[in-house]
Amino acid sequence: MVQFDKKKLNDGSLHVTISGKIDEKFDGGPVVEAAGGNGSTGKVVIHLGGIRSISSLGVRAFEMFISSLAQREIVMIHVSPAIASQMTMIPNLCHDAIIESAKLPFACPSCGAEKSHSIPWRAQANVEHAPKCACGTTMELDGLPEQYLPS
Ligand SMILES: [Zn+2]
Repeated sequence: MVQFDKKKLNDGSLHVTISGKIDEKFDGGPVVEAAGGNGSTGKVVIHLGGIRSISSLGVRAFEMFISSLAQREIVMIHVSPAIASQMTMIPNLCHDAIIESAKLPFACPSCGAEKSHSIPWRAQANVEHAPKCACGTTMELDGLPEQYLPS
């Protein structure tokens, strides 16, 4: 079950937050409808930080959703670990969408604190954009970079 939160900005772009679990029942119809309201080809910004999991059939449903928005400029932001790891395995998953950032788990090697932090979705960003822990230590990605980021 997923939740959609849609907001149309003055510049004509549509901002959508999708959260929850993506499975075979995923239907992005409400978003496609909202994006096509004016017959525009405007930008669609999709916030994916709240996607907790995506099943293998959900991947297919998500891919169809993205391809049905293909005429538009799609920007994905704060992509969750569940989605990011699918993107690295299936390069075509998001078609021509621009993946701006991924919200990934970081851990502190000194005190063990953990937090989610958004970094640009590109190789080495986990090092170049690593957050600082409250204790002053630079945090490290909790997982392998190639699991979440393009290489
Ligand atoms: Zn720390």
